[in-house]
Amino acid sequence: MIAADLTFDRQALLEKIRVAMKPARFQHVLGVEEAALTLADQYGCDPKKASLAALLHDYAKEVEDQVFLDLIAKYDLDKDLLNWDNNIWHGVVGAYKIAEDFGLKDEEIFQAIQRHTIGAGQMTLLDKVLYVADYIEPNRDFPGVDEARRIAKESLDKAVAYETAQTISYLAKKGVPIYPQTLETYNGYVAWLKEQE
Ligand code: GDP
Ligand code: FE
Ligand code: FE
Repeated sequence: MIAADLTFDRQALLEKIRVAMKPARFQHVLGVEEAALTLADQYGCDPKKASLAALLHDYAKEVEDQVFLDLIAKYDLDKDLLNWDNNIWHGVVGAYKIAEDFGLKDEEIFQAIQRHTIGAGQMTLLDKVLYVADYIEPNRDFPGVDEARRIAKESLDKAVAYETAQTISYLAKKGVPIYPQTLETYNGYVAWLKEQE
């Protein structure tokens, strides 16, 4: 469905994504694409990769847990993943389902999808564009989102830092476990919060 040169039939791709999720989530996906294209334009990222990464990133979000457990076994992924849930799996493991279902062979897009929830200590431009776009897309409405949007216009790295700090604080307040790679993202980017504007 997605050729090696990243050409694809947009209507067919959108339809396959649309039927895999609730309408509100599909609207979120379209919002992430819009935000990702704006960031790609500002920061010089390949728009075709930004668009595809955004459209595909939550494709596996409504997949049953057993599908992820089977993929973890099939691809011999880290056994620690068994201690987590859909929140972590839909990106880290979901990327394998996306690769299978769409014939996606692009490693940069694959990695950006894997990292879209948890980030990484050192992220590529595409990783950061998707990670931040997912957080600031126009349909998002939560405390701090306008500040995140403002920061994203000023520095993509600072936006990664701000988003990660907010997410960790939110998860800690809820009293839920924080995935170790989320903490690596925080440590890798937190210095940007001190940068002068
Ligand atoms: P969405 O798929 O567009 O809703 O957004 P994300 O993929 O970024 O996040 C999915 C869920 O995972 C959200 O509820 C986040 O708060 C949550 N999440 C993000 N990082 C972590 C983490 O380190 N640990 C846990 N337990 N949840 C996380
Ligand atoms: Fe997600
Ligand atoms: Fe998302």
